[in-house]
Amino acid sequence: MLSDPTRITRRPVPADPAPLPPPISYASRPRIHPKAVRGHYRRIKTALAAVLLALFAVLPWLRWERGPHAPNQAVLFDLGNQRFYLFSVELWPQQIYYITGVMIIAAIGLFLMTALGGRVWCGFTCPQTVWTDLFVWVERRIEGDRSARIRLDQQPWTLRRLAQKAAKHSIWLLIAFATGGVSVFYLTDAPTLVVDLLHADAPALAVGSILFMTGSTYLMAGFMREQMCFYVCPWPRIQAAMLDEESLVVTYQDWRGEGRAPLRKSQGWDTRAHQGFGDCIDCDQCVQVCPTGIDIRDGIQMECISCGLCIDACNDVMARIGRPGDLIRFDTQAAQSAKAVAVPPAPYRLIRPRTIVYSLMLVVVGGMMAIGLALRPNADISILRDRAPLFVTLSDGRIQNAYTIKISNMTLGERHYRLTVSGPAEARLSLAGDGAERSELALSARANAVETYRIQVRVPQTALSRPSTPLIVTLAPEPAAGSAARPEPVRHDTVFLAP
Ligand code: SF4
Ligand code: SF4
Repeated sequence: MLSDPTRITRRPVPADPAPLPPPISYASRPRIHPKAVRGHYRRIKTALAAVLLALFAVLPWLRWERGPHAPNQAVLFDLGNQRFYLFSVELWPQQIYYITGVMIIAAIGLFLMTALGGRVWCGFTCPQTVWTDLFVWVERRIEGDRSARIRLDQQPWTLRRLAQKAAKHSIWLLIAFATGGVSVFYLTDAPTLVVDLLHADAPALAVGSILFMTGSTYLMAGFMREQMCFYVCPWPRIQAAMLDEESLVVTYQDWRGEGRAPLRKSQGWDTRAHQGFGDCIDCDQCVQVCPTGIDIRDGIQMECISCGLCIDACNDVMARIGRPGDLIRFDTQAAQSAKAVAVPPAPYRLIRPRTIVYSLMLVVVGGMMAIGLALRPNADISILRDRAPLFVTLSDGRIQNAYTIKISNMTLGERHYRLTVSGPAEARLSLAGDGAERSELALSARANAVETYRIQVRVPQTALSRPSTPLIVTLAPEPAAGSAARPEPVRHDTVFLAP
């Protein structure tokens, strides 16, 4: 009679392996040729990669009507004009802290994802993983699966090998070039750049950027692959701090699998169990499909990117030998420890102190960002006081200071403003080149542009009790056409200098 395959029993643990050599910071590694695998996680990975690659390629072509004074590309990081456009959101250089906020949200999101499911970001959605997967797929289509590729690499250079390698590298370079091109489409108007490229009239900076991205993609996805994760990306080293005993990680159920040994045809499962062997038949399939070349049976490792492919491989083996699946599975370390001593594990807990803290942080930072974006002013001023000369004494005895004022009109229509100053009493204003003095100046700024004005402030000496008097410049936007709402004024502090 077959033993109950789901029962929890302890298996003999193999003897300690030989001591490891002292660690070294870098050693050239044998090339990894991951074997193709079918299964649940492979399907998820392929579907996610297809969606992400499609999004990456399509986003620069989406249009978003912003009127005549702004580009109509929905997602545009316009470095030349120092503007970031994300659908209805437009960010100016002085609002760059929103980008910092987005990065903080992304980091906290990554912490939360890791606390819940280990390195699923790395295994399923990281660009390095997605592009490497694509490059390996091309390699497999041209050179064959793992064993064929290993054989090919060991063969002398024949015409066939040369043709296969040339075909592979040509397609890799095409994909890398497409990646480089699409990356640069995010930085400039995509249709215009395509036309310029076709007419060999594209700016040198754009061509240089495309070539740089082409080279980086070719190198990182074609050659460096898992070594980017081992030696370049800091995340594998940081992620351990985000995990706890109850995070889901890819685990080998050693209590069920050990001791491992190949399955002999004549061997029944009961006999095998009595001989001290478990469900692992030491077929090495889990190692052969692993994109980072590790053996998950050695325990949780920094190199594991939680891609789940070893689970697919082992489940396939278990199905073929008539044993229950999930010998390798996403599981928590707490459950692993419980199973090792034949105690039923506690159910997986999604809500734990760590996930609550990360979720709260996400809500707080996300909320602050949303409120900040909704309430941000749509005008800004920067003021530069003339330093040479610091002040001028006019013939009537008054003191004059001159300022350069830059008004950023962050709306998509022309706007008018009233500029006033407070601080020194009896201050009068005039525009440089226009002698007329006023208590306030009427200024305007073109849509989505920065307008520069030179103004002079004149104050009687009798109104100044000290050499430096605080001066507050207030820019009050007039209501937009067709709107009765008066936007909040913006203020800027500077000083008025006197002898
Ligand atoms: S695929 Fe499963 S049975 Fe084969 S070696 Fe890996 S753990 Fe053991
Ligand atoms: S051990 Fe398994 S989950 Fe981890 S990287 Fe290798 S195949 Fe992916």
